[in-house]
Amino acid sequence: MLGTSGNLSVLIEENPIQFLITASGKDKGELTEDDFILVDEFGVIARSDVNTLKPSAETLLHSTIYKHTNAKAVFHVHTANNTLLSMKSQDKIIFSDLEMLKGLGFKTHDVKIEIPIIENNQDMKYLSTIAPSYISEEIPGLILKGHGIYAWGKTPQEAKKHIEIFEFLFEYRIKEL
Ligand SMILES: [Zn+2]
Repeated sequence: MLGTSGNLSVLIEENPIQFLITASGKDKGELTEDDFILVDEFGVIARSDVNTLKPSAETLLHSTIYKHTNAKAVFHVHTANNTLLSMKSQDKIIFSDLEMLKGLGFKTHDVKIEIPIIENNQDMKYLSTIAPSYISEEIPGLILKGHGIYAWGKTPQEAKKHIEIFEFLFEYRIKEL
């Protein structure tokens, strides 16, 4: 998570939705408890006793993912591999027949998956309204073109695992090009 890029969140309450998300502009290698902010589904700070930190600009997209999946944690990273591959692809990236696909929850390697790509936009409200039509039940990830990937899981550990599997797949495809 270079240059303070990316953001991490964990669901705390489901109804109504509340989640902890990393504050904007923090070095993700040096996070402490104080660098997470509790927000509601609209990205509004839900605890008034807190400091002057601002939630990530991408908070609304995390909220949308919580609403439309069974995710309990959402991780978002900008890597050279996911950025490059998304720029070289249209609206999805397809993988099949790889053992590592099982890390995304498939029982066997001989499946074909499509990881959706959305055009990047600085208007997070707009992105959070179109994202649901790209989210599928079996693929725990979503790419913003030229920007980064969102991956989720039922625990923070599973979200991390999914990020690692996706990044393996992206590196594999780039080496194949
Ligand atoms: Zn981002």
